[in-house]
This record gives sequence, C-alpha cells and structure tokens, in this order.
Amino acid sequence: MPLPLLMGHREARGRLAEAARSGRLPQVLLVSGPPGVGKQRLALWLAQLLLCERQELEPCGKCRHCRLVDGLAFADLHWFVPIPRPKAADPDKAIEEAAQTLAEVMEERRTKPLYGPPEGMASHAMASVRLLQRRASLTAVEGGPRIFILGDAERLVPQESSQEAANALLKLLEEPPAGSLFVLTTVDPRRLLPTIRSRAVPVRLHRLSDADVRAFLQERLEPPLAPAALEQRVAAAAGSIGAALAAGEEVGQAYEAAEQLLAAVLGGRAGLYERALRQPPYAARGEFTAMLDALADTLGEAARGVLGQPTRRPVPRALLERGDASTLLQALARVAEAREAAYGNVNPQILLAVLGEELAEVL
Ligand SMILES: [Zn+2]
Repeated sequence: MPLPLLMGHREARGRLAEAARSGRLPQVLLVSGPPGVGKQRLALWLAQLLLCERQELEPCGKCRHCRLVDGLAFADLHWFVPIPRPKAADPDKAIEEAAQTLAEVMEERRTKPLYGPPEGMASHAMASVRLLQRRASLTAVEGGPRIFILGDAERLVPQESSQEAANALLKLLEEPPAGSLFVLTTVDPRRLLPTIRSRAVPVRLHRLSDADVRAFLQERLEPPLAPAALEQRVAAAAGSIGAALAAGEEVGQAYEAAEQLLAAVLGGRAGLYERALRQPPYAARGEFTAMLDALADTLGEAARGVLGQPTRRPVPRALLERGDASTLLQALARVAEAREAAYGNVNPQILLAVLGEELAEVL
C-alpha cells in the first residue's frame, strides 16, 4: 500500500520546495499543527522531495527513490514514532528492542498506512534517542541525504528524565551531521523543551479545507460514504483527516447500536429490557449520545423511505414495514427528547429503558 496522499498545506510545501531546491533548507525543522492534519505525512513528503531523482518542486512519485519512500523502504529515511518503553535493562539491549519495535510499526504501516494517534504511554524513550544518535552517526547507505523524522516529539522522554540523553539530542540538533535533515512534529511546540525548540526552524500547519478532507475521504474510504454521510463526516472533522477517520469507527458503532435497539423495540418488551440492561450505566456519554444521533438519523431515513424518497443509508426493513411517516416522526421526536435528557445527569440505562418503552408504544 502506498502512503496516503498528502492533502493541502500548499503554501508550506511551496516554501519548503523552494528552500530545498535553492539549498537553503534548514537542517532541523519543527512541524506543528492540529492533530490529524498530516504533519508526519508532510515530513515524509519532504523526504521524498529531497530524495526524488527528478529534483522538481514536487516529488515525481515514480522514480526508484520516490517508490522506496512511498513503501517506507528507503534505507536513509528513519521514521521514529512513540513506542512502548523497551523492557531490557541493559542499554544496548534496550536499543535493539526499540529498533525491533520500530521496525514492526513500520512493517504495519506498509500494509496499513492510515494510523491513529499513538497509545497513551508510548514515548520516544531513552533507547529511541540512543538509536537515533547511533543511526545519525552512520554514513548514508544510498550516498544522498539522510532524513530523520521524529513524530509526536513532545513525547521525547529525555526531555525530563535524562540529562545525558537530552544533551546528546541537543548536540545532534545543534550540529546535525552533513547531509542530514531532522523533522520533528508536534501538536504544540510549547510542550517541547525550549532548548530543543530553539534549535529548530518552525513550520506551522493549519487545519485543512473541507474540500481537502472530502477529496481524501473520497479517495481512501472503502466502502465509500453516501453523499450526505460524507458531508456530515467532513463537517465533523473540522479540517482534520485524522478526526474524519476516527469518527468513522465511532459512527459505524453508533449505527450498529441504534439498529440493535430498534430490533429490540420491534421485537417486543422482553428483548427491549434486555437491551436496556446491557447498556453500561456509566458508558462514555459521547458514545451514548452518538447512538441516539444514529437512532434519530435512522428513523428520519426510514420516514423518507416510507414516503418513497431516496435514503442515504440502508434502513432496517422491519422499520419500513411497521411505520408510516407520521409514527416514525413521532418516534423521532421521542429520541430528540431523550437526546436533550442525555445532556443532563441521567443514567443512560434508565433513559434507554424509558425511550424503548416510548418507541415501542409509537411504532
Ligand atoms: Zn521521484
């Protein structure tokens, strides 16, 4: 699987490309911007630009080097991402362990290039920094530039815990080896030590346009979203492809839960109570309200279907057979009330039992 397309950031790309082609590209960059807008993707794009055999203002994407970068297989491209802290106590063993873990993450990204945010405890532990130092001290395998990407750089552990590693990293950033480029990325530069921040030239990215998010989702989402669902997703993403992709899973689960609830409602009281009791009383409120939103959307779509209008997503057949438009809209009103109540401090289990009763009466 090739890397996902880099969307947007045309101004930053233009400036970086001009700098690279005129030999004025700083050796240490700090790319910052909101989550999910493609900061590390931009770093990979820059790597490809520098390594591309054509040396134009965009990577050609076709030459051997471009294809190797695309497959995360270029020997002089080192992408460091936060990983679980290595278990080995011996420093050399810990470095090996970090290298192994990073290799596994990269292998996964080759087959599944879309990834979420790092796990809560993942970091650039000491071993990762030592590995970075070690790799930076070697010569280029391909003879050209060497690129080091440090994603989520605010997770650099040596920032706080080890003066020695922090100093080594600072020295590396202060006097980067000839022909090397370091790209650090972060959501918030203020979370980096000032001494690290001051050694890097900032590249600030902004949220993407809705058009860019839409184009990305159209290109990459499988199966594709119906037009209205796509627009919903684009609006909710607020310019972040990461948010748009994460929303997908949550939204899918919410619709599944809504469908189960409707099946329980249509299946009679026993099933309904069973379903309500399965609702965790202290579930994340967002999850619960997402289910209610999906329920409202499904009822609205069913009403459309009953009226012979095209629907944006498949509607449970039982719902179409049971309801006429007016009962479906009454049911929709009940869900809207429950949605209001869900903002307050109401136990979701009780709310769901009551809503289920009401829906069973109406439908
Ligand atoms: Zn190329």
